[in-house]
Amino acid sequence: MTIQTLPSVADEAAALLDRLGVPRAAWTGGTLPARSPLSGAEIGRLPETGAAEAETAIGAAHAAFLAWRDVPAPRRGELVRLLGEELRAAKEDLGRLVTLEAGKILSEGLGEVQEMIDICDFAVGLSRQLYGLTIATERPSHRMMESWHPSGVVGVVTAFNFPVAVWAWNAALALVCGDAVVWKPSEKTPLTALATHALFNRAAARFGGVPDGLCALLVGGRELGELLVDSKLVPVLSATGSTAMGRAVAPRVAARFGRAILELGGNNAAIVTPTADLDLVVRAVAFAAMGTAGQRCTTLRRLIVHASQYDALLPRLKQAYASVTVGDPRRPGTLVGPLIDAGADAGMTAALEAARQDGGTISGGEAVAVSGGGHYRRPALAEMPGQSEIVRHETFAPILYVLRYETLDEAIALHNDVPQGLSSSIFTNDLREAERFLSASGSDCGIANVNIGPSGAEIGGAFGGEKETGGGRESGSDAWKAYMRRATNTINYGRELPLAQGVSFDVG
Ligand code: NAD
Repeated sequence: MTIQTLPSVADEAAALLDRLGVPRAAWTGGTLPARSPLSGAEIGRLPETGAAEAETAIGAAHAAFLAWRDVPAPRRGELVRLLGEELRAAKEDLGRLVTLEAGKILSEGLGEVQEMIDICDFAVGLSRQLYGLTIATERPSHRMMESWHPSGVVGVVTAFNFPVAVWAWNAALALVCGDAVVWKPSEKTPLTALATHALFNRAAARFGGVPDGLCALLVGGRELGELLVDSKLVPVLSATGSTAMGRAVAPRVAARFGRAILELGGNNAAIVTPTADLDLVVRAVAFAAMGTAGQRCTTLRRLIVHASQYDALLPRLKQAYASVTVGDPRRPGTLVGPLIDAGADAGMTAALEAARQDGGTISGGEAVAVSGGGHYRRPALAEMPGQSEIVRHETFAPILYVLRYETLDEAIALHNDVPQGLSSSIFTNDLREAERFLSASGSDCGIANVNIGPSGAEIGGAFGGEKETGGGRESGSDAWKAYMRRATNTINYGRELPLAQGVSFDVG
Protein backbone atom coordinates (compact mmCIF):
# COMPACT_ATOMS: atom_id res chain seq x y z
CA MET A 1 0.00 0.00 0.00
CA THR A 2 1.37 3.45 -0.87
CA ILE A 3 0.69 6.22 1.58
CA GLN A 4 -0.17 9.43 -0.19
CA THR A 5 2.13 12.33 0.79
CA LEU A 6 0.20 15.34 1.98
CA PRO A 7 1.29 18.93 1.47
CA SER A 8 2.49 20.85 4.53
CA VAL A 9 -0.42 22.42 6.40
CA ALA A 10 1.14 25.87 6.08
CA ASP A 11 1.45 25.59 2.29
CA GLU A 12 -2.03 24.23 1.95
CA ALA A 13 -3.56 26.90 4.20
CA ALA A 14 -1.79 29.63 2.23
CA ALA A 15 -3.11 28.29 -1.07
CA LEU A 16 -6.65 28.04 0.30
CA LEU A 17 -6.58 31.55 1.75
CA ASP A 18 -5.37 32.91 -1.58
CA ARG A 19 -8.15 31.12 -3.42
CA LEU A 20 -10.73 32.30 -0.91
CA GLY A 21 -9.66 35.89 -1.54
CA VAL A 22 -8.10 36.71 1.83
CA PRO A 23 -5.34 39.29 1.41
CA ARG A 24 -1.95 38.17 2.74
CA ALA A 25 -1.72 41.29 4.91
CA ALA A 26 -4.72 40.01 6.90
CA TRP A 27 -2.91 36.88 8.08
CA THR A 28 0.80 37.58 8.00
CA GLY A 29 3.08 39.95 9.88
CA GLY A 30 0.83 40.36 12.93
CA THR A 31 0.88 39.21 16.55
CA LEU A 32 -1.87 36.55 16.83
CA PRO A 33 -0.48 33.13 15.87
CA ALA A 34 -2.82 30.78 14.01
CA ARG A 35 -1.80 27.17 14.58
CA SER A 36 -3.00 24.03 12.91
CA PRO A 37 -3.84 21.22 15.36
CA LEU A 38 -2.79 18.75 12.64
CA SER A 39 0.86 19.42 13.36
CA GLY A 40 0.95 22.28 15.86
CA ALA A 41 2.64 24.36 13.15
CA GLU A 42 2.06 28.07 12.87
CA ILE A 43 0.12 28.74 9.67
CA GLY A 44 -0.47 32.45 10.04
CA ARG A 45 0.21 35.47 12.25
CA LEU A 46 -2.68 37.86 12.19
CA PRO A 47 -2.75 41.57 12.91
CA GLU A 48 -5.10 41.94 15.90
CA THR A 49 -7.93 44.42 16.20
CA GLY A 50 -7.05 47.11 18.75
CA ALA A 51 -9.55 48.16 21.41
CA ALA A 52 -10.14 51.58 19.83
CA GLU A 53 -10.55 49.99 16.42
CA ALA A 54 -13.08 47.56 17.88
CA GLU A 55 -15.09 50.39 19.46
CA THR A 56 -15.09 52.15 16.08
CA ALA A 57 -16.32 48.96 14.39
CA ILE A 58 -19.16 48.62 16.92
CA GLY A 59 -20.12 52.28 16.33
CA ALA A 60 -20.03 51.78 12.56
CA ALA A 61 -22.17 48.66 12.88
CA HIS A 62 -24.72 50.65 14.85
CA ALA A 63 -24.79 53.33 12.13
CA ALA A 64 -25.16 50.60 9.48
CA PHE A 65 -28.05 49.11 11.45
CA LEU A 66 -29.90 52.45 11.34
CA ALA A 67 -29.94 52.22 7.52
CA TRP A 68 -30.29 48.43 7.21
CA ARG A 69 -33.41 48.25 9.42
CA ASP A 70 -35.33 50.24 6.78
CA VAL A 71 -34.41 47.89 3.93
CA PRO A 72 -37.40 45.57 3.33
CA ALA A 73 -36.80 42.15 4.86
CA PRO A 74 -37.14 40.16 1.58
CA ARG A 75 -34.48 42.44 0.09
CA ARG A 76 -32.27 41.75 3.13
CA GLY A 77 -32.90 38.09 2.36
CA GLU A 78 -31.35 38.63 -1.06
CA LEU A 79 -28.01 39.46 0.60
CA VAL A 80 -28.15 36.20 2.52
CA ARG A 81 -29.13 34.32 -0.65
CA LEU A 82 -25.97 35.65 -2.30
CA LEU A 83 -23.92 34.68 0.74
CA GLY A 84 -25.30 31.15 0.37
CA GLU A 85 -24.20 31.15 -3.28
CA GLU A 86 -20.68 32.23 -2.34
CA LEU A 87 -20.54 29.48 0.27
CA ARG A 88 -21.72 26.88 -2.24
CA ALA A 89 -19.00 27.93 -4.67
CA ALA A 90 -16.31 27.92 -1.96
CA LYS A 91 -17.50 24.85 -0.06
CA GLU A 92 -14.50 22.67 -0.87
CA ASP A 93 -11.93 25.34 -0.02
CA LEU A 94 -13.58 26.61 3.14
CA GLY A 95 -14.34 23.06 4.30
CA ARG A 96 -10.70 22.10 3.84
CA LEU A 97 -9.58 25.20 5.74
CA VAL A 98 -11.88 24.18 8.61
CA THR A 99 -10.11 20.81 8.59
CA LEU A 100 -6.69 22.47 8.71
CA GLU A 101 -7.57 24.96 11.43
CA ALA A 102 -10.00 23.03 13.66
CA GLY A 103 -8.77 19.47 12.94
CA LYS A 104 -12.09 17.98 11.80
CA ILE A 105 -12.03 15.17 9.26
CA LEU A 106 -12.73 16.40 5.76
CA SER A 107 -16.34 15.24 5.56
CA GLU A 108 -17.07 17.11 8.79
CA GLY A 109 -15.25 20.22 7.52
CA LEU A 110 -17.43 20.12 4.41
CA GLY A 111 -20.47 19.37 6.57
CA GLU A 112 -19.80 22.52 8.58
CA VAL A 113 -19.92 24.63 5.41
CA GLN A 114 -23.07 22.77 4.29
CA GLU A 115 -24.63 23.81 7.58
CA MET A 116 -23.84 27.44 6.72
CA ILE A 117 -25.48 27.00 3.32
CA ASP A 118 -28.54 25.40 4.91
CA ILE A 119 -29.03 28.22 7.39
CA CYS A 120 -28.70 30.77 4.57
CA ASP A 121 -31.48 28.96 2.66
CA PHE A 122 -33.58 28.88 5.80
CA ALA A 123 -33.01 32.59 6.45
CA VAL A 124 -33.92 33.55 2.88
CA GLY A 125 -37.32 31.89 3.35
CA LEU A 126 -37.62 33.48 6.75
CA SER A 127 -37.12 36.93 5.24
CA ARG A 128 -40.71 36.69 3.99
CA GLN A 129 -42.04 35.12 7.20
CA LEU A 130 -41.20 37.47 10.06
CA TYR A 131 -44.83 37.19 11.13
CA GLY A 132 -46.57 38.77 14.10
CA LEU A 133 -49.93 37.73 15.53
CA THR A 134 -53.27 39.47 15.30
CA ILE A 135 -54.82 39.18 18.75
CA ALA A 136 -58.50 39.37 19.77
CA THR A 137 -59.17 42.59 21.66
CA GLU A 138 -61.84 43.15 24.32
CA ARG A 139 -62.58 46.67 23.07
CA PRO A 140 -64.98 47.44 20.18
CA SER A 141 -63.54 49.06 17.04
CA HIS A 142 -60.01 48.17 18.12
CA ARG A 143 -57.37 45.96 16.63
CA MET A 144 -54.39 44.47 18.45
CA MET A 145 -51.33 42.96 16.81
CA GLU A 146 -47.67 42.21 17.26
CA SER A 147 -44.91 43.71 15.13
CA TRP A 148 -41.35 42.47 15.02
CA HIS A 149 -38.61 45.05 14.54
CA PRO A 150 -34.84 44.81 14.12
CA SER A 151 -32.94 45.00 17.43
CA GLY A 152 -29.62 46.66 16.57
CA VAL A 153 -26.07 45.31 16.61
CA VAL A 154 -25.82 41.59 17.37
CA GLY A 155 -22.47 40.65 18.92
CA VAL A 156 -21.40 37.11 18.07
CA VAL A 157 -18.67 35.42 20.14
CA THR A 158 -17.82 31.94 18.89
CA ALA A 159 -15.91 28.83 19.97
CA PHE A 160 -13.11 27.00 18.14
CA ASN A 161 -14.98 23.77 17.46
CA PHE A 162 -17.57 25.18 15.04
CA PRO A 163 -15.39 28.01 13.80
CA VAL A 164 -17.71 29.23 11.03
CA ALA A 165 -21.13 27.51 11.26
CA VAL A 166 -22.04 29.21 14.54
CA TRP A 167 -21.37 32.62 12.97
CA ALA A 168 -23.67 31.66 10.10
CA TRP A 169 -26.44 30.49 12.45
CA ASN A 170 -26.39 33.91 14.02
CA ALA A 171 -25.48 36.17 11.10
CA ALA A 172 -27.92 34.73 8.53
CA LEU A 173 -30.83 35.24 10.92
CA ALA A 174 -29.64 38.59 12.26
CA LEU A 175 -29.15 40.04 8.77
CA VAL A 176 -32.64 39.12 7.55
CA CYS A 177 -34.01 40.41 10.84
CA GLY A 178 -32.48 43.81 10.01
CA ASP A 179 -29.60 43.74 12.48
CA ALA A 180 -25.90 44.45 12.04
CA VAL A 181 -23.36 41.82 13.16
CA VAL A 182 -20.01 42.15 14.90
CA TRP A 183 -18.15 38.84 15.20
CA LYS A 184 -15.40 37.88 17.63
CA PRO A 185 -14.31 34.40 16.56
CA SER A 186 -12.19 32.10 18.69
CA GLU A 187 -8.56 33.15 18.86
CA LYS A 188 -7.79 29.49 18.04
CA THR A 189 -9.51 29.64 14.64
CA PRO A 190 -9.09 33.13 13.15
CA LEU A 191 -8.22 32.06 9.57
CA THR A 192 -11.56 30.45 8.80
CA ALA A 193 -13.20 33.63 10.14
CA LEU A 194 -11.15 35.77 7.74
CA ALA A 195 -12.13 33.50 4.85
CA THR A 196 -15.81 33.62 5.80
CA HIS A 197 -15.66 37.38 5.94
CA ALA A 198 -14.06 37.54 2.50
CA LEU A 199 -17.01 35.51 1.18
CA PHE A 200 -19.47 37.82 2.90
CA ASN A 201 -17.75 40.83 1.34
CA ARG A 202 -18.07 39.20 -2.09
CA ALA A 203 -21.79 38.67 -1.53
CA ALA A 204 -22.17 42.27 -0.33
CA ALA A 205 -20.46 43.59 -3.47
CA ARG A 206 -22.75 41.53 -5.70
CA PHE A 207 -25.72 42.80 -3.68
CA GLY A 208 -24.76 46.30 -4.80
CA GLY A 209 -23.15 47.33 -1.55
CA VAL A 210 -24.36 47.31 2.04
CA PRO A 211 -24.07 50.04 4.68
CA ASP A 212 -20.42 50.32 5.79
CA GLY A 213 -19.70 48.19 8.82
CA LEU A 214 -22.86 46.06 8.57
CA CYS A 215 -20.84 42.93 9.21
CA ALA A 216 -17.59 43.38 11.12
CA LEU A 217 -14.87 41.03 12.33
CA LEU A 218 -12.76 41.55 15.45
CA VAL A 219 -9.57 39.50 15.44
CA GLY A 220 -8.09 38.73 18.85
CA GLY A 221 -8.68 37.33 22.31
CA ARG A 222 -11.33 37.45 24.98
CA GLU A 223 -10.78 41.15 25.74
CA LEU A 224 -12.41 41.95 22.38
CA GLY A 225 -15.32 39.69 23.35
CA GLU A 226 -15.55 41.68 26.57
CA LEU A 227 -15.95 44.92 24.62
CA LEU A 228 -19.03 43.41 22.94
CA VAL A 229 -20.27 42.12 26.29
CA ASP A 230 -20.12 45.60 27.83
CA SER A 231 -21.18 47.76 24.88
CA LYS A 232 -24.54 49.48 25.19
CA LEU A 233 -24.60 49.60 21.38
CA VAL A 234 -24.96 45.80 21.36
CA PRO A 235 -28.52 44.95 22.49
CA VAL A 236 -28.12 41.24 21.67
CA LEU A 237 -25.02 39.20 22.46
CA SER A 238 -24.80 35.62 21.25
CA ALA A 239 -21.98 33.82 23.06
CA THR A 240 -20.94 30.25 22.28
CA GLY A 241 -18.27 28.55 24.36
CA SER A 242 -17.56 27.06 27.75
CA THR A 243 -19.81 27.40 30.76
CA ALA A 244 -16.96 29.31 32.44
CA MET A 245 -17.17 31.91 29.66
CA GLY A 246 -20.96 32.11 30.01
CA ARG A 247 -20.66 32.54 33.75
CA ALA A 248 -18.44 35.58 33.17
CA VAL A 249 -20.52 37.01 30.33
CA ALA A 250 -24.13 36.56 31.51
CA PRO A 251 -24.11 38.87 34.57
CA ARG A 252 -22.28 41.61 32.65
CA VAL A 253 -24.80 41.60 29.82
CA ALA A 254 -27.64 41.50 32.36
CA ALA A 255 -26.13 44.43 34.27
CA ARG A 256 -26.68 46.65 31.25
CA PHE A 257 -30.09 45.02 30.49
CA GLY A 258 -28.84 43.48 27.26
CA ARG A 259 -30.08 40.17 25.92
CA ALA A 260 -27.68 37.23 25.96
CA ILE A 261 -28.15 34.14 23.80
CA LEU A 262 -25.91 31.65 25.60
CA GLU A 263 -24.78 28.39 23.95
CA LEU A 264 -22.48 26.76 26.49
CA GLY A 265 -21.10 23.40 27.48
CA GLY A 266 -22.94 20.08 27.32
CA ASN A 267 -22.64 16.69 29.01
CA ASN A 268 -24.86 14.67 26.77
CA ALA A 269 -26.12 11.19 27.54
CA ALA A 270 -27.90 8.33 25.82
CA ILE A 271 -29.97 5.67 27.57
CA VAL A 272 -29.81 2.15 26.12
CA THR A 273 -32.96 0.28 27.18
CA PRO A 274 -33.78 -3.46 27.20
CA THR A 275 -35.50 -3.20 23.78
CA ALA A 276 -32.79 -1.06 22.10
CA ASP A 277 -31.57 -2.12 18.67
CA LEU A 278 -27.87 -2.60 19.42
CA ASP A 279 -26.87 -2.29 15.74
CA LEU A 280 -28.26 1.24 15.79
CA VAL A 281 -26.70 1.93 19.17
CA VAL A 282 -23.18 0.94 18.11
CA ARG A 283 -23.30 3.08 14.94
CA ALA A 284 -24.89 6.05 16.68
CA VAL A 285 -22.49 5.94 19.61
CA ALA A 286 -19.49 5.69 17.29
CA PHE A 287 -20.29 8.97 15.56
CA ALA A 288 -21.73 10.79 18.57
CA ALA A 289 -18.90 9.93 20.98
CA MET A 290 -15.83 9.74 18.71
CA GLY A 291 -16.77 12.12 15.86
CA THR A 292 -14.95 15.49 15.83
CA ALA A 293 -12.56 13.80 18.32
CA GLY A 294 -15.15 14.36 21.05
CA GLN A 295 -15.01 18.12 20.52
CA ARG A 296 -18.66 18.90 19.83
CA CYS A 297 -20.89 20.60 22.36
CA THR A 298 -23.34 17.75 21.61
CA THR A 299 -20.74 14.95 21.84
CA LEU A 300 -22.05 11.87 23.62
CA ARG A 301 -20.22 11.77 26.94
CA ARG A 302 -22.33 9.39 29.06
CA LEU A 303 -23.88 6.07 28.04
CA ILE A 304 -26.45 4.74 30.51
CA VAL A 305 -26.96 1.07 29.71
CA HIS A 306 -29.60 -1.32 31.06
CA ALA A 307 -28.04 -4.22 32.95
CA SER A 308 -29.63 -6.71 30.53
CA GLN A 309 -27.84 -5.14 27.53
CA TYR A 310 -24.52 -4.32 29.14
CA ASP A 311 -22.63 -7.52 28.44
CA ALA A 312 -23.83 -7.68 24.83
CA LEU A 313 -23.11 -4.03 24.06
CA LEU A 314 -19.75 -3.40 25.69
CA PRO A 315 -17.66 -5.87 23.63
CA ARG A 316 -19.18 -4.46 20.44
CA LEU A 317 -18.40 -0.91 21.50
CA LYS A 318 -14.84 -1.83 22.43
CA GLN A 319 -14.41 -3.40 19.02
CA ALA A 320 -15.75 -0.26 17.31
CA TYR A 321 -13.45 1.91 19.42
CA ALA A 322 -10.44 -0.25 18.58
CA SER A 323 -11.23 -0.15 14.86
CA VAL A 324 -11.31 3.61 14.23
CA THR A 325 -8.38 5.20 12.49
CA VAL A 326 -6.84 8.12 14.36
CA GLY A 327 -4.65 10.40 12.27
CA ASP A 328 -4.31 13.26 9.85
CA PRO A 329 -7.93 14.32 9.19
CA ARG A 330 -7.14 15.01 5.53
CA ARG A 331 -6.53 11.33 4.86
CA PRO A 332 -9.43 9.27 3.55
CA GLY A 333 -10.28 6.64 6.15
CA THR A 334 -9.37 8.78 9.15
CA LEU A 335 -12.32 9.10 11.52
CA VAL A 336 -10.67 10.80 14.48
CA GLY A 337 -8.39 13.81 14.04
CA PRO A 338 -6.35 15.73 16.61
CA LEU A 339 -7.35 17.54 19.77
CA ILE A 340 -7.19 21.28 19.37
CA ASP A 341 -4.07 21.87 21.51
CA ALA A 342 -1.87 20.78 24.41
CA GLY A 343 -4.41 22.09 26.93
CA ALA A 344 -7.10 19.78 25.55
CA ASP A 345 -4.64 16.88 25.64
CA ALA A 346 -3.77 17.56 29.29
CA GLY A 347 -7.49 17.84 30.10
CA MET A 348 -8.08 14.38 28.65
CA THR A 349 -5.18 12.86 30.61
CA ALA A 350 -6.38 14.44 33.85
CA ALA A 351 -9.99 13.29 33.31
CA LEU A 352 -8.92 9.69 32.64
CA GLU A 353 -6.78 9.72 35.77
CA ALA A 354 -9.69 11.07 37.84
CA ALA A 355 -11.98 8.40 36.37
CA ARG A 356 -9.46 5.71 37.35
CA GLN A 357 -9.29 7.07 40.89
CA ASP A 358 -13.09 6.93 41.04
CA GLY A 359 -12.94 3.20 40.27
CA GLY A 360 -13.35 3.42 36.49
CA THR A 361 -11.97 0.85 34.07
CA ILE A 362 -10.48 2.56 31.03
CA SER A 363 -9.94 1.20 27.55
CA GLY A 364 -8.30 3.33 24.87
CA GLY A 365 -7.22 6.92 25.43
CA GLU A 366 -3.56 6.38 24.46
CA ALA A 367 -1.56 9.02 22.61
CA VAL A 368 -1.06 8.29 18.90
CA ALA A 369 2.09 9.53 17.18
CA VAL A 370 1.25 11.12 13.85
CA SER A 371 4.10 12.39 11.74
CA GLY A 372 4.36 16.14 11.97
CA GLY A 373 3.21 16.49 15.58
CA GLY A 374 -0.16 17.53 16.99
CA HIS A 375 -2.08 15.96 19.91
CA TYR A 376 -3.72 12.76 18.74
CA ARG A 377 -5.45 10.37 21.15
CA ARG A 378 -7.42 7.18 20.76
CA PRO A 379 -10.99 7.67 21.98
CA ALA A 380 -11.53 6.22 25.45
CA LEU A 381 -14.29 4.20 27.07
CA ALA A 382 -14.49 4.55 30.85
CA GLU A 383 -16.73 1.99 32.60
CA MET A 384 -17.74 3.70 35.82
CA PRO A 385 -19.18 2.30 39.06
CA GLY A 386 -21.23 5.50 39.49
CA GLN A 387 -21.71 9.05 38.28
CA SER A 388 -18.78 10.67 40.09
CA GLU A 389 -17.74 14.32 39.86
CA ILE A 390 -15.55 13.80 36.78
CA VAL A 391 -18.48 12.19 34.93
CA ARG A 392 -20.62 15.22 35.72
CA HIS A 393 -17.94 17.52 34.27
CA GLU A 394 -17.61 18.32 30.53
CA THR A 395 -14.12 17.29 29.40
CA PHE A 396 -13.78 18.44 25.79
CA ALA A 397 -12.18 15.24 24.48
CA PRO A 398 -13.28 11.78 23.28
CA ILE A 399 -14.09 10.08 26.59
CA LEU A 400 -17.31 8.10 26.93
CA TYR A 401 -18.32 7.21 30.49
CA VAL A 402 -20.44 4.06 30.66
CA LEU A 403 -22.91 3.54 33.52
CA ARG A 404 -25.29 0.69 34.28
CA TYR A 405 -28.96 0.95 35.37
CA GLU A 406 -31.87 -1.28 36.41
CA THR A 407 -35.04 0.86 36.17
CA LEU A 408 -36.02 3.64 33.76
CA ASP A 409 -36.63 6.00 36.70
CA GLU A 410 -33.05 5.39 37.80
CA ALA A 411 -31.75 5.97 34.26
CA ILE A 412 -33.62 9.27 33.88
CA ALA A 413 -32.47 10.41 37.31
CA LEU A 414 -28.84 9.67 36.37
CA HIS A 415 -29.37 11.30 33.00
CA ASN A 416 -30.60 14.57 34.49
CA ASP A 417 -28.22 14.66 37.45
CA VAL A 418 -25.56 16.80 35.75
CA PRO A 419 -25.21 20.60 35.67
CA GLN A 420 -25.54 20.80 31.87
CA GLY A 421 -28.66 20.29 29.73
CA LEU A 422 -27.90 20.35 26.02
CA SER A 423 -28.66 17.14 24.12
CA SER A 424 -29.91 13.65 24.91
CA SER A 425 -31.11 10.35 23.44
CA ILE A 426 -32.92 7.19 24.30
CA PHE A 427 -32.58 3.95 22.34
CA THR A 428 -35.77 1.95 22.69
CA ASN A 429 -38.48 0.16 20.77
CA ASP A 430 -40.90 0.55 23.65
CA LEU A 431 -43.33 3.39 22.96
CA ARG A 432 -43.94 4.02 26.64
CA GLU A 433 -40.24 4.46 27.37
CA ALA A 434 -39.73 6.74 24.37
CA GLU A 435 -42.67 8.96 25.27
CA ARG A 436 -41.67 9.06 28.94
CA PHE A 437 -38.19 10.24 27.94
CA LEU A 438 -39.66 13.02 25.78
CA SER A 439 -42.23 14.03 28.43
CA ALA A 440 -42.03 16.72 31.09
CA SER A 441 -40.62 14.19 33.56
CA GLY A 442 -38.11 12.78 31.08
CA SER A 443 -34.97 14.36 29.65
CA ASP A 444 -34.36 17.90 30.94
CA CYS A 445 -32.34 18.91 27.86
CA GLY A 446 -33.02 21.35 25.02
CA ILE A 447 -32.64 18.49 22.54
CA ALA A 448 -34.12 15.01 23.16
CA ASN A 449 -33.95 12.27 20.53
CA VAL A 450 -35.19 8.73 20.07
CA ASN A 451 -33.04 6.11 18.32
CA ILE A 452 -30.47 8.61 17.05
CA GLY A 453 -27.45 9.98 18.89
CA PRO A 454 -27.37 13.38 20.57
CA SER A 455 -25.03 15.06 18.07
CA GLY A 456 -25.44 16.22 14.47
CA ALA A 457 -28.51 18.44 14.73
CA GLU A 458 -30.25 19.81 11.63
CA ILE A 459 -30.64 23.56 11.24
CA GLY A 460 -34.46 23.42 10.99
CA GLY A 461 -34.96 22.99 14.73
CA ALA A 462 -34.13 25.47 17.48
CA PHE A 463 -30.72 24.57 18.89
CA GLY A 464 -29.63 25.07 22.49
CA GLY A 465 -29.92 23.75 26.01
CA GLU A 466 -30.94 24.32 29.59
CA LYS A 467 -29.22 24.71 32.97
CA GLU A 468 -25.48 25.48 32.61
CA THR A 469 -25.79 25.18 28.82
CA GLY A 470 -27.25 28.67 29.13
CA GLY A 471 -30.85 28.56 27.86
CA GLY A 472 -30.17 30.14 24.45
CA ARG A 473 -31.79 28.98 21.21
CA GLU A 474 -30.32 29.54 17.76
CA SER A 475 -30.82 28.36 14.20
CA GLY A 476 -34.28 27.14 13.13
CA SER A 477 -37.90 27.15 14.34
CA ASP A 478 -38.69 30.53 15.91
CA ALA A 479 -35.16 31.21 17.19
CA TRP A 480 -35.20 34.35 14.99
CA LYS A 481 -37.37 36.07 17.59
CA ALA A 482 -34.35 36.53 19.85
CA TYR A 483 -32.79 38.77 17.20
CA MET A 484 -35.77 41.13 17.03
CA ARG A 485 -37.75 43.30 19.39
CA ARG A 486 -41.48 42.72 19.72
CA ALA A 487 -43.96 45.59 19.79
CA THR A 488 -47.61 45.07 20.75
CA ASN A 489 -49.78 47.55 18.84
CA THR A 490 -53.37 48.53 19.67
CA ILE A 491 -55.26 50.63 17.12
CA ASN A 492 -58.56 52.38 17.80
CA TYR A 493 -60.59 52.93 14.62
CA GLY A 494 -63.77 54.10 16.42
CA ARG A 495 -64.95 57.38 17.93
CA GLU A 496 -65.11 56.15 21.55
CA LEU A 497 -62.24 55.60 23.96
CA PRO A 498 -63.17 52.48 25.96
CA LEU A 499 -60.56 51.54 28.56
CA ALA A 500 -59.47 47.97 29.12
CA GLN A 501 -60.78 46.03 32.15
CA GLY A 502 -63.90 48.27 32.18
CA VAL A 503 -62.04 51.11 33.90
CA SER A 504 -63.83 54.45 33.61
CA PHE A 505 -61.96 57.72 33.83
CA ASP A 506 -64.23 60.51 32.63
CA VAL A 507 -62.82 64.00 32.84
CA GLY A 508 -64.68 67.31 32.43
P1 NAD B 1 -14.10 29.20 25.30
O1 NAD B 1 -15.13 29.48 26.34
O2 NAD B 1 -12.71 29.02 25.74
O3 NAD B 1 -14.10 30.40 24.20
C1 NAD B 1 -15.22 30.70 23.43
C2 NAD B 1 -15.15 32.14 22.97
O4 NAD B 1 -15.40 33.01 24.08
C3 NAD B 1 -13.81 32.58 22.40
O5 NAD B 1 -14.05 33.40 21.28
C4 NAD B 1 -13.20 33.38 23.54
O6 NAD B 1 -12.28 34.36 23.11
C5 NAD B 1 -14.42 34.03 24.13
N1 NAD B 1 -14.34 34.41 25.55
C6 NAD B 1 -13.79 33.72 26.56
N2 NAD B 1 -13.99 34.36 27.74
C7 NAD B 1 -14.70 35.47 27.45
C8 NAD B 1 -15.21 36.55 28.23
N3 NAD B 1 -15.04 36.60 29.55
N4 NAD B 1 -15.90 37.53 27.61
C9 NAD B 1 -16.10 37.49 26.27
N5 NAD B 1 -15.61 36.52 25.48
C10 NAD B 1 -14.93 35.51 26.07
O7 NAD B 1 -14.63 27.91 24.50
P2 NAD B 1 -13.87 27.00 23.43
O8 NAD B 1 -12.82 26.20 24.12
O9 NAD B 1 -13.51 27.80 22.25
O10 NAD B 1 -15.06 26.02 22.97
C11 NAD B 1 -15.41 24.84 23.63
C12 NAD B 1 -16.61 25.04 24.52
O11 NAD B 1 -17.69 25.62 23.77
C13 NAD B 1 -17.17 23.73 25.05
O12 NAD B 1 -17.54 23.92 26.39
C14 NAD B 1 -18.38 23.47 24.18
O13 NAD B 1 -19.36 22.63 24.76
C15 NAD B 1 -18.88 24.86 23.96
N6 NAD B 1 -19.72 24.96 22.77
C16 NAD B 1 -21.06 25.09 22.93
C17 NAD B 1 -21.89 25.14 21.82
C18 NAD B 1 -23.38 25.24 21.98
O14 NAD B 1 -24.04 25.52 21.00
N7 NAD B 1 -23.93 25.01 23.15
C19 NAD B 1 -21.35 25.08 20.54
C20 NAD B 1 -19.96 24.96 20.41
C21 NAD B 1 -19.15 24.91 21.53
